[in-house]
Amino acid sequence: MAAQLSGIASPATGASPEELRPAIEAVDLDTPLGNLNDAVEEIQRLYLRDAIYFHDTRYAAHLNCPVAIPAAAIEAMVTSVNTSMDTFDQSAGATLIERKLVDWTSRLIGFDPQKADGIFTSGGTQSNLQAMLIARNIATAKLQGSLPHRLSKLRIYCSADAHFSIRNSAMLLGLGVEAAVAIPTDPLHRMDPAALRRQIEADVQAGLQPMSISATAGTTDFGSIDPLPELRSIASEHGTWLHVDAAYGCGLLISRRHRHRLAGIETADSVTVDYHKSFFQPIGSSALILASGQDFGSITHYAEYLNPRSEAAGSANQVDKSLQTTRRFDALKLWTTLRTLGAGELGDMFDQVIELAEMAEREVALRDELRLVAPVQLSTLVFAFDAPHAALSRTQKNQLADQIRHRLYASGEAMIAATTHHGERLLKLTLLNPNTSLSDISAILDVICRVGREILSDQKAGIPL
Ligand SMILES: *Cc1c(COP(=O)(O)O)cnc(C)c1O
Repeated sequence: MAAQLSGIASPATGASPEELRPAIEAVDLDTPLGNLNDAVEEIQRLYLRDAIYFHDTRYAAHLNCPVAIPAAAIEAMVTSVNTSMDTFDQSAGATLIERKLVDWTSRLIGFDPQKADGIFTSGGTQSNLQAMLIARNIATAKLQGSLPHRLSKLRIYCSADAHFSIRNSAMLLGLGVEAAVAIPTDPLHRMDPAALRRQIEADVQAGLQPMSISATAGTTDFGSIDPLPELRSIASEHGTWLHVDAAYGCGLLISRRHRHRLAGIETADSVTVDYHKSFFQPIGSSALILASGQDFGSITHYAEYLNPRSEAAGSANQVDKSLQTTRRFDALKLWTTLRTLGAGELGDMFDQVIELAEMAEREVALRDELRLVAPVQLSTLVFAFDAPHAALSRTQKNQLADQIRHRLYASGEAMIAATTHHGERLLKLTLLNPNTSLSDISAILDVICRVGREILSDQKAGIPL
């Protein structure tokens, strides 16, 4: 893999599903090749050759990081021993290692490690779902009436820029998607506390029950951090759970320069962290941390064959706190990274991509065709390609943005993302690679401008957008 990865010259070959499908379809799964070498050779052709490489410095699309090498190396051990984390009798020391990492993360957040507890999960989506599940159970216990009636009263408040997994959680938890209320944001895309307070007061007046305020510390598009101290005050006034989704922003916990930006996170009831984003860990590596570990109680299920109630007192069975039963020992990857590189090094890498994004902001400003939509807050840049002198409709402008992104992918020159804001299709860079330099960014922006101009001149020549 080291040889393969160091031989990569672009983030993608630009292959389309149509180009990749025939070779994969042609494989006869009922006729084995009979040896691993041939199987790997086949995989090289079917997958590896055209894979998307996050460690390439022209990859700036989604929230994917290049992985810390100690974590990648230890993955073979995780898979070979195949420990399952549900019970102590399937994991032994692995459970204690995971618990120590949970305690360590709790301390970083500023929780009382005597009271706090947590669990590793598959990702931020699952961590958020579990946080909302626990908040739901606590809120329904306070209400009277039938369960459907109580569930219909609950409301979750998140910002309009929050991750969609919060809305999906409302749906999965039987509240309906409309139970997740999107609160307007300020120009920096942070939840507006005054608007939140008005919404909650109106809902309480209408007989509804605020279940949870779900703050975001590092929104996926803009990296914005909701005003945590204000949200804490509002949550306390209404006896409501405060969740902080720090799936992206959690890297600030180990930052030497920017830790203060998370001030107030220590007052949360629950926190989502994605080590597989800003701690440079391989997928999956995430955790849900609760200020009070007792709050896991509402989801504990005792199964006689696995974790019997008779062993509940002082149980070392992680399944008591997990939505998963059989579960990977993902914690070993973070452990190995900390024991090899240390948290300081990881935090410095996150600081470096933040600094890179700040420099990239100036590079965008230098180009007439590019217009930044909001100031850089973490390591993402959202901007428009404004065609000079081209009279395009809104729809055509949106098509142009998607065309630029597609052509970049197809050419393999760079990979960028896109998002929509107030109906405007925009381009986005997500920077999570500490090896990316300012000259890489400058080259990516130049390619965007060149490709944008090419598409416009094609259009003038009669090729529709
Ligand atoms: C990525 C992200 C998630 C989802 O996490 P996964 O690990 O992709 O499941 C949730 N919230 C935010 C803010 C994110 O950026």
